[in-house]
Amino acid sequence: MSPNNTIGWRMDNSYVTLPEIFYARTEPARSPSPELIVLNYPLAASLGLDTDELERKEGIDELAGNRLPEGAEPISQAYAGHQFGHFTMLGDGRAVLLGEQITPDGKRLDIQLKGSGRTPFSRGGDGRAALGPMLREFIISEAIHALGIPTTRSLAVVTTGEPVYREETLEGAILTRVAASHLRVGTFQYAAARNVVEDLRALADYAIERHYPEVKGASHSYVALFEKVVERQALLIAQWQLVGFIHGVMNTDNMTISGETIDYGPCAFMDMYDPATVFSSIDRQGRYAYGNQPGIGEWNLARLAEAMLPLFDADNERAIKIAEDKLSAYRELYHKHWLQGMRHKLGLFAEEEQDGELVEELLTIMQNQGADYTNTFRALTVDEWSGVPMSETNVFKKWFGKWEARRARQSETKEESAKLMRASNPAVIPRNHRVEEALEAAVDRGDFTVMDQLMNALAEPYAHTKEQLEYMAPSSSNVPYRTYCGT
Ligand code: AMP
Ligand code: MG
Repeated sequence: MSPNNTIGWRMDNSYVTLPEIFYARTEPARSPSPELIVLNYPLAASLGLDTDELERKEGIDELAGNRLPEGAEPISQAYAGHQFGHFTMLGDGRAVLLGEQITPDGKRLDIQLKGSGRTPFSRGGDGRAALGPMLREFIISEAIHALGIPTTRSLAVVTTGEPVYREETLEGAILTRVAASHLRVGTFQYAAARNVVEDLRALADYAIERHYPEVKGASHSYVALFEKVVERQALLIAQWQLVGFIHGVMNTDNMTISGETIDYGPCAFMDMYDPATVFSSIDRQGRYAYGNQPGIGEWNLARLAEAMLPLFDADNERAIKIAEDKLSAYRELYHKHWLQGMRHKLGLFAEEEQDGELVEELLTIMQNQGADYTNTFRALTVDEWSGVPMSETNVFKKWFGKWEARRARQSETKEESAKLMRASNPAVIPRNHRVEEALEAAVDRGDFTVMDQLMNALAEPYAHTKEQLEYMAPSSSNVPYRTYCGT
């Protein structure tokens, strides 16, 4: 390690080997007086980074874009996307990819600064981010990770010392995001829109190399790549549904090829079970409502298939047939993962014909009774019913009898079943009012203890500890919760 790289960077830059249309060389803007707000110690360690060094001036300067990590070749990436159904050319308007860190265990992970100033893709935007939304991404992405769901990670948040102007003046901040890659459905759409098959092919080869090297030998590796993405997304969205996570902006530029959750803008967790739940202030039609997410996943994958058609077959008709055939696997895969996850949430091991019905019945009762999604499954898990008024109703008692009979039919013990439920039903989720409270303390008062405590409770959601109890309660407010795009 060279003397000016005591932090532990081991950067490589494979993305710049792609054709030049896919990126623009871009230096992050300077931050006049950066301050470290949060650092993710376990993540830093897994990246092979020295946290003591990251906390020193040089480290903070790197997280603030004032100094480049050794080996970095900063770029902003080009991509396109369907935003609320409308196709647009986009690109990193406020993010810079520093490079790819090769971790001690040999993984290659993108290190990206988000909020680091204007880029050639900024269009009318200022390239900046405010502290609140960056801390929000930090909290929720790490909570999603702790829930066992694939996601980009958050290494650090620094303030820049420069204000950003929205409806009010806010503190500017930069989030360091870590991702398997930032390849999106929208990256393929961008390549397809440019209409040079060789560029599209280069992108697909790169995606295979980086995420699905196992398909290299397949008889048709591009079709196999598409199948892999379909599989990963079916699993990812099933996992979101099972914990009640609502992404909020499932535009095709916010869907990864790797199958990681990305871009935490107006996302939030559902309280009361209701498929129509939508939090985002800009989603007036409810396009990205909870119950629509699986279908939107399929819609987005259809856009990916369209972009990849020239790689599937030189004959367009035949290519479309291949695309339709491979996409048709999505629904069944999604349903399989979802139902299996639901079985686990109910402590069921083997499959029985009627399991789907048993689950649907419970969800219908929950919806009619306005029951809290997370707390209902927690109550079933630990058999504690205070704060779950639904448990007193006859419809529920009848369902409960069916469920007990179903559990009694399996050979696994009640203890084994309870253990499976504990591992499948989180005791805590990042409740919207608790996240807001933590952000308010941090942003308005510079008090980070509230956020620290919240993050501690969220770090092991399946632990079911006493300390987590206080984070269970849904908001007592009757005002519907609203989220805003994190700009
Ligand atoms: P998002 O809603 O965060 O997925 O962003 C959608 C697009 O808008 C992406 O191309 C972003 O890079 C771009 N964008 C968002 N905020 C800004 C900003 N403040 N300045 C420039 N571009 C932005
Ligand atoms: Mg985005």
